[in-house]
Amino acid sequence: MMPARLHEEIAAWLEFYRDLDIDEFLLESRPVGITLDSQGGLGVAGSEQLEGQPEAVTQAPDQSERESDRVAPILAAQASPPTPEIADAATVRPPRAARSLNLFEAQPPRRPDRETLEEIRTDLGECQRCKLAGGRKHIVFGQGDPHAELLFVGEGPGADEDEQGLPFVGRAGQLLNRMLQFVNIRREHVYICNVVKCRPPGNRTPERDEVETCSPFLFRQIEAIRPRLVCCLGAPAVRTVLGLKDGILKLRGQFYDFGAAKALATVHPAYVLRNPREEKILREDFEKIRDFLQASKR
Ligand code: URA
Repeated sequence: MMPARLHEEIAAWLEFYRDLDIDEFLLESRPVGITLDSQGGLGVAGSEQLEGQPEAVTQAPDQSERESDRVAPILAAQASPPTPEIADAATVRPPRAARSLNLFEAQPPRRPDRETLEEIRTDLGECQRCKLAGGRKHIVFGQGDPHAELLFVGEGPGADEDEQGLPFVGRAGQLLNRMLQFVNIRREHVYICNVVKCRPPGNRTPERDEVETCSPFLFRQIEAIRPRLVCCLGAPAVRTVLGLKDGILKLRGQFYDFGAAKALATVHPAYVLRNPREEKILREDFEKIRDFLQASKR
């Protein structure tokens, strides 16, 4: 009989992975064993031979072995009683057909429908898709936590961003940092990007064709990250992300539906740099961001 503790622990792992919608951990290409340590904790033996165990169990799978032979549900392991000698050695082996079981070393499964930021960046490449390419020093793709709950969308890189290849590192970035500090959100926990990835000459507003060319990359970034809240900084971001054309002072401070997420419109930090008395607008909206994230904590 399988020890009750081991049974429970495997069941808990299964439930945990099922909750995560993961079931591919059942697939593993090299032989492993599940071990119990002296305290009864779960461990994994790799392909190294275990003391006192027949070599055949741990040797590499036969080249001619079919994939279906190497893939077996974990329940098969539960169903197969370990031999007394194995139980004595506090080592529970999956049966031959189930030796691909590995709860601990499996790669996190990739959802086929979900791109990574790296893939999107690779696709962007040394982009020449629009006329902004000619004037840039660096593409400013985006920066931050790829699993961020909060994603900021600015307008486009300025001179400092173009120089460093990073978003919001100039004066507007310093104000953004100050607002994040004000609501106790760490910059490294958010993701920051722009409607266009290359600096418009003289920091002009990006033109329609530039936005149309570049914004698909923005939407792919948002889809890859799947934040809970997208904060649009300024009118061009609101227009691009939400398709809303009213003035920013009318739209700001409100939450909008954005797929499964929400979006909040606020003024661009550069607007506050030009109108310092308006800093209260940003403060107010950042408090809304903080309250939203706290209220809907997962
Ligand atoms: N302004 C923006 O809109 N984006 C940046 O990255 C910097 C300044």
